[in-house]
Amino acid sequence: MRLDKKVAFITGAASGIGKRIAEVFAQAGATVAVADLNADGAEATAARLRALGHRAVGIGVDITQEAEVDAAVARAVAELGGLDILVSNAGIQTVAPLVEFRFEDWKKVLAVHLDGAFLTARAAMRQMVASGHGGSILFMGSVHSKEASVLKAPYVTAKHGLEGLAKVIAKEGASHLIRANVICPGFVRTPLVDKQIPEQARALGISEDEVVRKVMLKDTVDGEFTTVDDVARVALMFAAFPTQALTGQSLVVSHGWFMQ
Ligand code: NAD
Repeated sequence: MRLDKKVAFITGAASGIGKRIAEVFAQAGATVAVADLNADGAEATAARLRALGHRAVGIGVDITQEAEVDAAVARAVAELGGLDILVSNAGIQTVAPLVEFRFEDWKKVLAVHLDGAFLTARAAMRQMVASGHGGSILFMGSVHSKEASVLKAPYVTAKHGLEGLAKVIAKEGASHLIRANVICPGFVRTPLVDKQIPEQARALGISEDEVVRKVMLKDTVDGEFTTVDDVARVALMFAAFPTQALTGQSLVVSHGWFMQ
């Protein structure tokens, strides 16, 4: 599974899952645009990749802003010579019971996950169509693309929505050799999850340890968190897959938490 001569644009790549995907893609031969709201973090990740001999640029971008996304993708294409892979990965989480959910928090979660996915996919697809080479579009879904949990109304709604968007892209993109897939991880110990452990403990009236054991890992087969490596391997498989056989599919990577 190699990505030699491929250029990948990865959002949310200053941290957690996106950062590991950037490292694994670079090791597989890809040139990487490390895109993130945290511009300094994006540049730091890109600088570490360059120090290891890889080609990478850091790009600050808010994926909810149309003009910023178009400019960021245009910059990646100009500086790196094209665009073959999009990993639309950036995400946020806010937990609260639905009856207490603030409308502005609902809109923010939907904007980052859905507006961000649409805007980055549209910009990437325009480039992939123009190049004539097509490419691979990956969305970071979640077990919450398939299943619900309490306290996560907008997140579950958005993650389910990504499955629909990927299927549309698989159909509209097929004649341009554009593939689309969704990766659906279980809980991964990243800053996004570390933030919600105390929030869930407060909302559910249980200890933080109980949140980990009785909420997050309860239904896994081995009591283990999914790792950033687990997710990055699946991303590499989809990005490097040579045909359209898997387009439109999602894959759950969750240590058995959710089985289809
Ligand atoms: P993380 O908090 O470690 O990283 C998320 C990154 O996204 C951060 O660097 C942040 O700056 C960036 N970001 C946030 N809003 C942005 C915006 N508007 N524009 C550009 N960048 C923005 O989180 P993570 O756990 O690595 O999550 C990455 C993705 O994986 C998310 O889509 C998340 O929903 C999904 N996911 C995570 C888990 C998990 O357990 N950690 C499980 C399933 C799915």
